[in-house]
Amino acid sequence: MDDCVDLHTHSTFSDGTYTPADLVMYAKKKGLRAVALTDHDTVEGLGEAMAAGKECGVEVIPGVELSAAFQEGAMHLLGLFVDRDAPSFLKKLSVLQASRRERNPKIVEKLRKLGFDITEDEVAAVAGGEAGRPHFARVLMEKGEVGTITEAFERYLGEGRPAFVERFQFSPEEGISLIHEAGGVAVLAHPRTLRLSPDQLAPLLKGWIRAGLDGIEVYYSTHTPEETVRYERLAAEWNLAATGGSDFHGENKPGIDLGVGRGTLHVPYSILDLIRRRRIKRNA
Ligand code: AMP
Ligand code: FE
Ligand code: FE
Ligand code: ZN
Repeated sequence: MDDCVDLHTHSTFSDGTYTPADLVMYAKKKGLRAVALTDHDTVEGLGEAMAAGKECGVEVIPGVELSAAFQEGAMHLLGLFVDRDAPSFLKKLSVLQASRRERNPKIVEKLRKLGFDITEDEVAAVAGGEAGRPHFARVLMEKGEVGTITEAFERYLGEGRPAFVERFQFSPEEGISLIHEAGGVAVLAHPRTLRLSPDQLAPLLKGWIRAGLDGIEVYYSTHTPEETVRYERLAAEWNLAATGGSDFHGENKPGIDLGVGRGTLHVPYSILDLIRRRRIKRNA
């Protein structure tokens, strides 16, 4: 793992189970040279992560992950090297947090109507910040209602399932510019979850690049070798930065480990250098 990085991780400030400091210390233990903390819709864990990074000698890249409104599948954007103090950026993140606060009681209500004895307090107790669906899944699992977090999504919490409730999301273009407002590099995360064929993806990608998309997450825990090659080629063809990360969530995504994903992920430090260069160019 020498000279490797992980550019996609979550802490207790969103839906991971490691605190930012524990995550960074774990990165150190795994021999990673750099790690990006990319919590959903929040930068509040970054201060702790960066302080821990300084302490133990791991480079911590300030990041964020946003969900964008997209019909076909799930579209997530990673912002890397974001300025966690940029006022307009923080204001927009607070809109996303507010939308979670509004959504979460509705999920509780739906689950209760389905016959589960679950309360907002129980969900809040397993969440560090604003709760996400993995926290609802966790409570259901701890009550023995489902065997795994995945099962909770498949039966109740996933899109189209009976306890699903929409929350506000920016459009892909808005998401990209919001990351740029914070001086960050905008990356299309885990492109497989868009659920698009290569022919469908190409024209959309073109539009997002016009809106300023800087990179695409080529190396990812659940990409097949074929997908990795395909996205590598796409990155080269469209002059996008190729990034990589595990999407580590601790116990909330069992089987996915920091740095190595399902065991074979390997993201060299040189990738981070390329992203850094992109960022300098973009912000020049
Ligand atoms: P939320 O942002 O609160 O709507 O929750 C979305 C999060 O739930 C994602 O970022 C993933 O971490 C997790 N998630 C989504 N779908 C699944 C699934 N099928 N199985 C397990 N976790 C999932
Ligand atoms: Fe998540
Ligand atoms: Fe994601
Ligand atoms: Zn993620």
